[in-house]
Amino acid sequence: MPASERQAPIHAAMDQFPVNDGELVVGGIPLSRLATRAGQTPFYAYDRQQLTRRVAQLRTALPASIKLHYAMKASPMPALVCHMARLVDGIDVASGGELKIALDSGADPHEISFAGPGKSPHELEQAAAAGILINIESFREVSELADIQRKTGYPARIAVRINPDFELKSSGMKMGGGPKQFGVDAEQVPELLTEIGRSGLAFEGFHLFAGAQNLKPEAIVEAQCKSFELALRLAKSAPSPVRFLNLGGGFGIPYFPGEAHLDLAPIGANLAMLAERARSELPEAELVIELGRYLVGEAGIYVSRIVDRKVSRGQIFLVTDGGLHHHLSASGNFGQVIRKNYPVTIGNKMTPEKRENVSVVGPLCTPLDLLADRMDLAAALPGDLVVIYQSGAYGFTASPRAFLGHPACVEILV
Ligand SMILES: *Cc1c(COP(=O)(O)O)cnc(C)c1O
Repeated sequence: MPASERQAPIHAAMDQFPVNDGELVVGGIPLSRLATRAGQTPFYAYDRQQLTRRVAQLRTALPASIKLHYAMKASPMPALVCHMARLVDGIDVASGGELKIALDSGADPHEISFAGPGKSPHELEQAAAAGILINIESFREVSELADIQRKTGYPARIAVRINPDFELKSSGMKMGGGPKQFGVDAEQVPELLTEIGRSGLAFEGFHLFAGAQNLKPEAIVEAQCKSFELALRLAKSAPSPVRFLNLGGGFGIPYFPGEAHLDLAPIGANLAMLAERARSELPEAELVIELGRYLVGEAGIYVSRIVDRKVSRGQIFLVTDGGLHHHLSASGNFGQVIRKNYPVTIGNKMTPEKRENVSVVGPLCTPLDLLADRMDLAAALPGDLVVIYQSGAYGFTASPRAFLGHPACVEILV
C-alpha cells in the first residue's frame, strides 16, 4: 500500500455513552448538567449502568462456574465498590485501607482476598480478624500469621501467591515471571507449603497473577493454561486440597490508537476447558479470575473545563482546570514508555461543525502536564468540557493529587 493511502491508527470507537443534542450523556444526564450537579470541574464520573452491563457481558462470555472478583485497586471509590460488591463474587484488596472499604461495602469476608508484597504485621492481624483469605507472598508472612493465630485465636485463611516460572506475553505490565517482588517463586513453593503444614494455618489454595493490560486473547489463554498446570503440579505438595485457584486476570481495555477491544470468546472457551479439567483434577477447587480495569475502566470519564485557548507558533493549546495531578495515566506518566493519547473528546460539542488540531494541557508548571497531544477535536473555547474516556481505572486513585496545590478533584457515581 502506498504511504499516502496508509491510515494513521485510530482509537477504538468510544460508544459506551450515548450522545443527545450534541452532548455526551453519562448516567442518563447530559454532560454540562452533570458538571453542574457535580458541583465543580474537574471531576470523574462513573456510570453504574456501564458497570452492571460489563459484569453481565463477562458472565455471558465466561463459564458459569468461574468466580469473578473485582481487584479494587483499579478504583477504590467506596460507592463504586459497594455497587461492584453486589455484582461480583468477591473483592481483591491490596492494603489494610482497601480492606476497610471492601468490608464496609458489605462483601462477604469469606470472598475477600488480600494480595500485595510487604503486608505489615498490623495488616495481617486486621485480615485474620476479618476472616478473609490472605495471599501469602513470603516465608515471613507465614510465620507472622502463625504467631497472630497463636496470640489471638483467629484462624488465618491463606492461599499462596506463586511467582510463576513464565511470563504473560504482550502484557502492558508484567507482574510475574523472572525475579519479582510479588509472590513466592514457584521453585520455593513446595518448601513454603511444608512450612504452612507445620504452622497450623488453614491452606486454601493458590493465586497467580502474571500481568495486566493485555489485549491479546492468545497470550491470556496461554498464561491461564500454564497457571493451571503449575497449580496442579504444586497442589501435590499442599498440606490440604486446593479450594481456591485464582488464575489472575490481566484483561486489557483499548486506550491508544490502533488498540481494539479484547475478544472474550477464546478466553471463555479456554476457561470452560480448564473448569472441566478442574472438576476431575482439583475437584474441591473454585476457579477465580480477578479483574480491575476491565470491569471499571470503560465506565469512567474524567471531565475538565477549558480555561484558556492559546496559539503558540501556530499550535493551538487548550488549557484546562484539570491535569496530570488528577489523571497521571492520561498524561502518559504512569508506566508508559512512549506517550500516546487517551481517547479524548469535547463532551458538550459531540456533533461539531468544525474540528481543529489541538493540544490539551493542564494548569501545572511542567511540560509533562499534557492530556492530549495534537489531536483533532471539536473546535472549542473556554467554558467547554474536555472528556477523557477510559478513565474509570487508575485515574483518580493513581494520581499525585497534592502536586502543585491546585483545587481537588471529585468523583461521582451516576
Ligand atoms: C493490580 C492487580 C490486579 C488488577 O489488575 P487490572 O489490570 O486492573 O485488571 C489484579 N490482581 C492483582 C494481584 C493486582 O495486583
